[in-house]
Amino acid sequence: MKKIITNLLILIAFSASAQINPELATSGINIKMLFPEGKNKALILSYDDGRTEDRQLVQLLNKYHLIGTFHLNSNKLGSKDYLNKEEIKNLFKGHEVSVHSANHPNLPDQSKIDVISEIVEDRKELERLMEYPVRGMAYPFGNTNDAVIEAMDGLGMEYARTVGDTYTFEIPKEFLRWHPTMHQFAKAYWEPNQPEKDAQEMARFYKVIEVFITTKELAVLDIWGHSWEMGSDANKWSETEKFLKLLSDNSAIYYTAQIELVDYIKAFQNLKFSVNKKRVVNLSAIDLFLKKENKTYKIPAGATISID
Ligand SMILES: [Zn+2]
Repeated sequence: MKKIITNLLILIAFSASAQINPELATSGINIKMLFPEGKNKALILSYDDGRTEDRQLVQLLNKYHLIGTFHLNSNKLGSKDYLNKEEIKNLFKGHEVSVHSANHPNLPDQSKIDVISEIVEDRKELERLMEYPVRGMAYPFGNTNDAVIEAMDGLGMEYARTVGDTYTFEIPKEFLRWHPTMHQFAKAYWEPNQPEKDAQEMARFYKVIEVFITTKELAVLDIWGHSWEMGSDANKWSETEKFLKLLSDNSAIYYTAQIELVDYIKAFQNLKFSVNKKRVVNLSAIDLFLKKENKTYKIPAGATISID
């Protein structure tokens, strides 16, 4: 019974899909965003803290051609159990490095200037190490509030992930309150010696993955966690490999760093349509894809095309 209810909840939550572009929503013409190459699904794998176990995790991601987003605390790098500053550029090649604050405080407890300096200090140091603009973030402990978000105005963070699991595949309406789909393994292993609960949570985790793999709707699966949760536990690592493999090599899935997905969505939201929705111009530097009345169109970067 419990399982049926869980499945039902996933389906109900999933059917209430987000409106991407208000201009399109009111047009009465059925135009929907697709991901690159006309794919309908996107996968984000988001890991926090930059501990040494990230080395093992990156190896697994690379093995299955998956892309990770890694949120790092620059003042912790180089201390015990954390990655070294010197290694991160190479280690995270092909993945995203993003802000997790310089020192990992609970941001809602900080003064405005401390929120600002925690983010800017981390951003500057990660940019020095990675040699690109760092524009994404995950909140330490997943915690944020209105005051934190107000303090972040102008700091260049284009999305910030919480830990408020939704168990849905919706694109968040507010990118600075980016609630993920779910924690890796759902809430299995959150408390010691709860084998029955662990089994239920693992079943829930794989059920959500199964729904994602089978859906034909627009869907973003955003799984978050920490490599240190696997620690030196071989079972948890083989479980990690199992679900990564399950999600790999799927032609319907757009494998992406979180910032790249945000860039794509923002570019899509900036498409300019004629009033009758028969022409569209893509002013961005990204090729965009949409579905109109069940037909897929590619709008190349910079191009104006007919979608009649
Ligand atoms: Zn953290």
